[in-house]
Amino acid sequence: MSTASTSAVDSRFEVLLGFDMETDVGSWTPFHEGLRHGTPAVLEVFRTHGVTGTFYFVGHSAREVPESVLQVKEAGHEIGAHSLYHETVGDALFPIPGIYPLLSHEVKPRLEKNTQWVEEVAGVRPVSFRCPRLFGSTTVCNALEDLGYVSDATYPMYFYKEQLAPYHPDQNDWTKKGDLRLVQIPNFADLSLESTDAYGRDCDQWPKFRTESASALLEHVDHFLDYLESQKVDRKVLAFYFHPWEFHPMPQGMIHFGEGGVLPDPFIVKGCGDYALEQFDILIAELKNRGAAFHTAEEIALATL
Ligand SMILES: [Zn+2]
Repeated sequence: MSTASTSAVDSRFEVLLGFDMETDVGSWTPFHEGLRHGTPAVLEVFRTHGVTGTFYFVGHSAREVPESVLQVKEAGHEIGAHSLYHETVGDALFPIPGIYPLLSHEVKPRLEKNTQWVEEVAGVRPVSFRCPRLFGSTTVCNALEDLGYVSDATYPMYFYKEQLAPYHPDQNDWTKKGDLRLVQIPNFADLSLESTDAYGRDCDQWPKFRTESASALLEHVDHFLDYLESQKVDRKVLAFYFHPWEFHPMPQGMIHFGEGGVLPDPFIVKGCGDYALEQFDILIAELKNRGAAFHTAEEIALATL
């Protein structure tokens, strides 16, 4: 452990462990092997540590694997929503072939349908949301506000770099502070690093825990906590994002279906399965050692003034 990291050891901070419950490897496959088999394994790690998190379900995935929704609910975690079909609901930060951003008038009805599909399976109405790929927008925030959501854990700190703690977004610019009742929960990134990537993705947290290790990610955690201290941010919240398919072995190489296939970049599928589970377990234990208090997104939102 570096000297820079020791100052964070005694400080209390809040942790949101958020899981985006979707098809394997995001939008790239039609399969739900991770949701089926990764979810119970992840829930077991949560159980052994006695912590809770928020699980954001794609509407389509909730319908396809309803038992996964019920497992999560029965284990006492928050059920959130993650779009209808893992489409681009907000402003695309980079292009995805075949997946074009929703037109602005489509956003609210589709989020409403997403809410309804998840509620039908879960028996509870989701009040927490996360946009696929952290592609958020002002339109999304306003729609979530109208639909009664209390939180959106989308803001990618690695990209916008401005908001360092949960905030109420502006109705005309979701990346600024304003008067919406909704709380935007930024996903932390190591802003102490000099980025060499056009999008700043090398400062991001994901998916270091499995492509490298829990301790590599914890180094970023410690840097981030120190950075918040240097910026005089009193409320320290670390929002993490994971996916159930990271906790089940993903095919290495070409994944074939329908009339073709996809070849995910190596980092997308690296370390998925047992290694990810082992590192996730270490990560939670180490966050606890550092004094973390684990909360759901709803709890973090309701505690935001
Ligand atoms: Zn997603």
